Formats: sequence, structure tokens, C-alpha cells
Amino acid sequence: MNIAILPGDGIGPEIVAQAVRVLDALDLSFNTETALVGGAAYEAHGHPLPDATLKLAQDADAVLFGAVGDWKFDTLERSLRPEQAILGLRKHLQLFANFRPAICYPQLTHASSLKPELIGGLDILIVRELTGDIYFGQPRGRRESPDGAFKGHPEAFDTMRYSRPEIERIAHVAFQAARKRSSRVTSVDKANVLETFQFWRDVVTEVHADYPDVELDHMYVDNAAMQLVKAPKKFDVIVTGNMFGDILSDEAAMLTGSIGMLPSASLNSASRGLYEPSHGSAPDIAGKNLANPLATILSLAMMLRFSLNHAEAAMRVEAAVLKVLESGLRTADIWSEGTQRVGTQEMGSAVVAALIAA
Ligand code: NAD
Repeated sequence: MNIAILPGDGIGPEIVAQAVRVLDALDLSFNTETALVGGAAYEAHGHPLPDATLKLAQDADAVLFGAVGDWKFDTLERSLRPEQAILGLRKHLQLFANFRPAICYPQLTHASSLKPELIGGLDILIVRELTGDIYFGQPRGRRESPDGAFKGHPEAFDTMRYSRPEIERIAHVAFQAARKRSSRVTSVDKANVLETFQFWRDVVTEVHADYPDVELDHMYVDNAAMQLVKAPKKFDVIVTGNMFGDILSDEAAMLTGSIGMLPSASLNSASRGLYEPSHGSAPDIAGKNLANPLATILSLAMMLRFSLNHAEAAMRVEAAVLKVLESGLRTADIWSEGTQRVGTQEMGSAVVAALIAA
């Protein structure tokens, strides 16, 4: 099996290095190859997703991705910005289903800004559609306003759209995921205002007919944002579109205390996937040995389970992370009184040691 390793920018190389140490410690015979992506690739090759990097990812069984982006690239034309690499990979690998579990580990309950009784034991899964919606809809651009009160003035516009097959396949993924959990799906939309999301609601309801054993409810996105901080444990699986999923999954991430703890998987219909932490490249702490590598290490566990058919190795990695948290080691983002503060590398070493000792 071949794994493409794309560390990226900012804290990407630091956190991916720790996940690779964990992968090596598992002593499974995978081939790994590393390539530049994002701002690092732009600086070396003039493009955030060079052909060689894309080919490596396309030929691999799975991609381990760090993060891309830095404020210094914000003035580049959009197609050359680091973030285009991740959009390009999603598009070319047809990664339409993004899994973002939000789990609050008992050892980290106090790290959340919510009361412990609201957050303790939280275990929800956000399934975000990744290849459609307003992020990819055409046409888009800038023009002279053709009508309305500001006719003739400059304006910018994007297009929100979803096709029936796109909604059907993500709905199937969500219902099937729910069957392995508490069999409850909340579909989040804005059907009261947007034609695209009335259609989304209609199609999800139709697909639900194939899953009579799974409970389905629909919720408007503004209410979902509110319920996530009011009573997050009421949710089990949330399925939603690209933009609402982008926002709600970060909100859910923070419920658990730190975005540095949350893994993600983006899969295509052949279960090949890209695995990355839910956070970005954190340029503010890059190169300082401050970043929490656990989200990336937990993303590696998701890769072992979903794409590499090594569920047992995935459980070993997750158990090692739990053991390290139980021992009281914390990176700065999850540190609290009475625990021991460690850096990125020391956290990686502790997970490797726990893995080997198990
Ligand atoms: P961010 O997730 O990089 O950082 C937000 C905050 O969380 C920062 O204070 C950061 O220090 C902290 N943080 C993030 N990861 C952490 C970790 N592992 N350990 C400890 N603290 C951590 O989001 P941002 O600041 O909005 O964006 C920074 C850059 O990342 C931008 O260029 C953005 O476009 C890019 N980005 C990339 C991805 C991706 O590669 N998939 C996703 C989101 C943002």
C-alpha cells in the first residue's frame, strides 16, 4: 500500500513528522513518499499543487496531509494561493465525503468553554459534502451590477448549487455511518430561504426511505449553530453541505476544547482518502514546537481504519493517545493546572512510547 505524505506549510511539517514517527513505530510495510504542497510548493515550483504532487496523491491508496496557507500568500491571485491545493486535491481525487468526528475526551472536559455536564462524553460525527455548493458553483466572479438598487456598481457573486446525485451519495454515506452509531441523522439546511437547500431537504428525505431503521430530522443551519452550543449531545450524525459543514465543524471542534485534537477524513466512493487535522497551518505558532500533533496522529488512525484496512492498528494508535492524555501530558493548547506541558516533539515521542509499551 502506498501513502503520499504532504506536510504543507506552517505547523504542517512539524505535526506530520510526529504522525510519520507513529506510522513507523507500527512497523507495517507501507511505502511512503513525501511531496511539497501549498505555499511550499508554490515557492519551489510556482504552483500550490504541482503535477508531480497531484500524481503522487492520485496513485496513492491514502494521503496524509498537514495543512497549507500563510498570510504572506494572501496577496497572490486566487488560483495560486496555497488553499487551492486542498480544493484541487478534493476535486481531482473526488473526495466528496468529509468525516469530522468531534469527541470530548474525559481528560479534556475542562478544556472546553462549555460546562462539563454539557460536553462530557460528547461523541458526534459531522458528515460534510465536500465537492459541491457555493465553493465550486459556476458562474462566479466580479462584474458591474446588472440590476437592483445599485445597478452599474461593481459587485461580486458566487453560485450555490447541488445536483441530485451529489446529495444522494452524501446522504447514503451519512445514513450508513449512523447505522454504526446511534442511528440518528440530523440534516442541516436552509430550506426556508434557499432553493438549493429545499432541494437538499427533499432528496435527503427520499434517500431516507432506504433506511427505515435510522431516525432523520431536519434543522435550519442557524438553529443547528445554536443547538451545538446549547445541547451538543443531542446530535449523533450531522449531514450538511460544503459551506454549512465548514462552519459547523469548526464550531464543533472548539466544543471539545481544542481544534488541535480533531482529525478528519475525506473519502471518495472507492474509500481512498485524504486524512488531515481539522485545523489550518497556524502560522502564529509555526516552528516553535508548540503545535498539538494529536489531531494529525488521530487522522493517521482514521487512515489505517478507512483506507488501509488496518482497524486493529488504528485502535492501537487511539489507545496510545488516550494513555498519553491519562498520563497528564499536554501541549499548550490543552494545558491546564496540574498537567505537564510538553512540546510537539515530546508529545509525538510519548505516543510512540505508549504504542511500543502496549
Ligand atoms: P488555524 O486553524 O490555522 O489556526 C486557528 C488557531 O488555532 C490559531 O490560534 C492556531 O495557533 C490554533 N491552532 C491550530 N492548530 C493548532 C494545533 N495543532 N495546536 C495548537 N494550536 C493550534 O486557522 P487560521 O488561523 O484561520 O488559518 C491559518 C492558515 O491556515 C490560513 O492561511 C488558512 O487559509 C489556512 N487553513 C488551511 C486549512 C487546511 O490546510 N486544510 C484549513 C484551515 C485554514
